[in-house]
This record gives sequence, C-alpha cells and structure tokens, in this order.
Amino acid sequence: MAGSEAAWQAAQMGVPVVLHEMRPKVGTFAHRTGSFAEMVCSNSFRSDDDERNAVGLLHWEMGAANGLIMEMARSHRLPAGGALAVDRDPFAEAVTARLMNHPLISVEYGEITELPQDGHWIIATGPLTSPALANSIRAETGAESLAFFDAIAPIVYAESIDMSVAWLQSRYDKGETEEERTAYINCPMDKAQYEAFIDALLAADKTEFHEGETAGYFDGCLPIEVMAERGRETLRHGPMKPVGLTNAHKPQEKAYAVVQLRRDNKLGTLYNIVGFQTKMKYGAQTAVFKMIPGLENASFARLGGIHRNTFINSPTLLDDQMRLKTRPNIRFAGQVTGVEGYVESAAMGLLAGRMAAAEIKGQTLPPPPPDTAMGALITHITGGAEARTFQPMNVNFGLFPPIDAKGGRRGRKDRYKAYTDRAKDRFTQWLAAQ
Ligand SMILES: Cc1cc2nc3c(=O)[nH]c(=O)nc-3n(C[C@H](O)[C@H](O)[C@H](O)COP(=O)(O)OP(=O)(O)OC[C@H]3O[C@@H](n4cnc5c(N)ncnc54)[C@H](O)[C@@H]3O)c2cc1C
Repeated sequence: MAGSEAAWQAAQMGVPVVLHEMRPKVGTFAHRTGSFAEMVCSNSFRSDDDERNAVGLLHWEMGAANGLIMEMARSHRLPAGGALAVDRDPFAEAVTARLMNHPLISVEYGEITELPQDGHWIIATGPLTSPALANSIRAETGAESLAFFDAIAPIVYAESIDMSVAWLQSRYDKGETEEERTAYINCPMDKAQYEAFIDALLAADKTEFHEGETAGYFDGCLPIEVMAERGRETLRHGPMKPVGLTNAHKPQEKAYAVVQLRRDNKLGTLYNIVGFQTKMKYGAQTAVFKMIPGLENASFARLGGIHRNTFINSPTLLDDQMRLKTRPNIRFAGQVTGVEGYVESAAMGLLAGRMAAAEIKGQTLPPPPPDTAMGALITHITGGAEARTFQPMNVNFGLFPPIDAKGGRRGRKDRYKAYTDRAKDRFTQWLAAQ
C-alpha cells in the first residue's frame, strides 16, 4: 500500500523511482500474489463518510492529493453500505499496471536484506517486513522493533449459507442503491444461542503464543475469543451488535445478537464474517462457527489465522519528514511506522513519496497541518505519541487538536462535521501551497 502510493506520488512529481518488491520471489504467510497493494485480510477501506468519520476524511484527503490507492479503490468498489469495500484482486492488478506503465517508475523484484547506504530510500515493508531487513533495522536503530499478532477473519462460500435463516441488509439500511442497502448477510441469535456460542468460544482450542508475543493486539483486528474473554457481553456490543437490523423472516422478533457477513468479491460468491478474526485452531473454528444460525452447513474458503506485525518506535526514531534521524537518506512509511490499516499506511506512503521527491528537487515539503487527517497521523507517529508505550494507531478524531477550544457546546455529530470541515479547508490550503 505505502510503497505503491509513495512511488506514484514521487514519479508524478517528476522524480524517477525504482520500486523494489520481494514478492513473488520471496513470499509472506499472508500475501497470495505478486501484485502490489495486495489486501491481505478484510477487503474494506472502512467508512467512506468524509463528513463525520476520520477514516472517511482520510479517503477524501487522499483523493484530493490524487492518490493512486484511493482512485483505484473507488474504481473497484463493491457495495458495502457506508463502507468502501474493494474487489481486491482487480484492485491490486490495476495498481500494479498503473505503476508498471509509469514512464518514471522501474520495478526490481528481490528482497532488500539491509538498510541501504546511499541514495534516497523509503522503507515501506509493512507489518511482515522480511526478517533479514528487520534485523538490519534493529541493528541501525538500536531500538526494539516490536512484533505482535493480529488475525484474519474467515471467508465463507455464499452458496453454503442458509438464507431461510439469514437475510440481506446493511445496518440502518445505509446506502444509496438497493445493492448497497443489502450488502451484508445477517445471521440472528437468540439469548440461548448467544450464550452457548460464547461458552464454545471460551472453551475452544487456541493457538498458543510464546512468552511476550501477545503484547498489544492490532486493535481493529482483535481476535473474537479475546473479545469474549473480556466479558460475555463484549461481542454483543461489538461485531455482534443487533442494532439497526430487522430479521426479514421474523420482523417481530428482535435478535439478541447478529453475526454479519460482508461480500468479499464482486461476484458475491464469498463473504467474510465481519470482525471474526481469530486464533482458534482450524478444527475449533469450523465447529464454533457452524453454531451460528444460518452457517450450520457453511463451507469455508479460508479460515482465520494469526499474524505478526513489525513496526518501529517512530516517535523516537523519525523526524517530521519521516526520515530516520541517524540516517536521513532513509525514510519510513506505512504500517512499519506504527500507523495501522490499509488506508493509513497508504496515506503515509503518499506523504513520504511527496516529501522525498521535494527533497530531491531541493525543496522542503512541510507536513500537513495537524488538524487534517494526514497531519494528525504524521504528528502522532513522529512525536505526538508517547514513545514508551507507542502502539500502532488508526486515524481517529482523538488525534486531532480539539475543535471546541473555548468550551463551546456542540453535539458529537456536529463536532465531527466541524473537524472535517476544518480539515478539508486546511488540507486544501496545504496542497495549494506546493
Ligand atoms: C495478516 C494481516 C491482516 C491484516 N488485516 C488488515 C485489515 O483487515 N485491514 C487493514 O486495514 N489492515 C490490515 N492489516 C494491516 C495491513 O497489512 C496494513 O494495513 C497494510 O497492508 C500495510 O501496508 P504497508 O504498505 O505498510 O505494507 P504491505 O502492504 O504489507 O506492503 C509491504 C510490501 O513490502 C514487501 N517487503 C517486505 N519486506 C521486504 C524486503 N525486505 N524487501 C523487499 N520487499 C519487502 C512485501 O512483500 C509487501 O509487498 C493486516 C496485516 C496483516 C499482516
């Protein structure tokens, strides 16, 4: 994500770029293809609401800055209510084709095993940075790179879902078209079914972690059984919340909990179980997930899994140009800097690409103001965050300077709109000044 966007931005500024990619020669456990910008887990770029949602605002800013990832995501969009879901393979192929066809971009396939000495570099090797390069980074920075785990949600074949029990509906019927309003498959549970499901989750066989490896899950991808361990009601208030949904088969009956499945490909043949990332063993997964009404006979295209996530302590290591303080010819971008998610990673690639290109052209590009989504993120990772407890971060309004400095009273919705209005204004000014 980040490397693709960085290469695109720098090349668009007239700077020649060599894009290094180790796949398909060297793989990772999560990537399946040799394409750039492969989405390894969910196929969602999350909320597309640019008025009241921070990630939606980030979409807007990336669009305003002619971001390649956002342009391609929009042209390979799948119906998903208010979310920007993406047809992952055609999306990645389109990003790859655009980069390959750019006259200023050349591609070299192969693993980079050491931090390079000369020239301008952007390291955007992601949460699955190869071990050799991770060792080289550790040797250079002297700081500890952290490794921790997140998890893949299982994918179900649509034809194996019992639609006499499940029904199609987006939460609160959100969406412009009928297709969007029916983008999710919903499986209802009554109280007894929910309680039995929680018992099974808690009792299921899980993959064991080694000492120290569990510190800090990827928060947007918290394993479902870890949520259940936090309290029996946690899931009912999280991914299994029943609000905004009416059972089409029994409109009078309010479900106690609802499991949602989101379309995973354009054809509509695959659905992922939303929020059901897991570290349960495979046998346990099939047994537990088949307890979900409507999924009794489900066939799984892919079961959930666990993942490593490598990132550096950016607040101590990087300057506000995303350069390694000890080796300013090297920038970092993407998830390896401690942002979290496809969109955030691509956004940091966008900034690193522009900043590097500006520097090569003898200019300095200041970071976007902190009251923009991109500015809030870069400010957070390059100094705003507490270095000692630094953990990967999604974009959220909590990272923005407060809007009601004078203690004005606004409803939450109004306040978010005020954040996004202000951000769009400032981001537009920042772009215009380049
Ligand atoms: C299993 C898993 C599930 C995830 N699920 C989600 C999710 O559902 N939603 C979400 O928003 N985010 C998710 N994330 C986080 C997601 O990976 C990142 O948000 C995003 O892909 C990171 O973008 P990136 O550009 O930083 O890294 P990547 O997209 O991973 O790109 C890094 C690239 O660098 C290459 N590379 C690595 N080391 C080297 C080397 N030494 N030499 C040359 N090339 C190298 C890799 O092959 C890869 O192509 C998940 C991560 C993992 C690992």
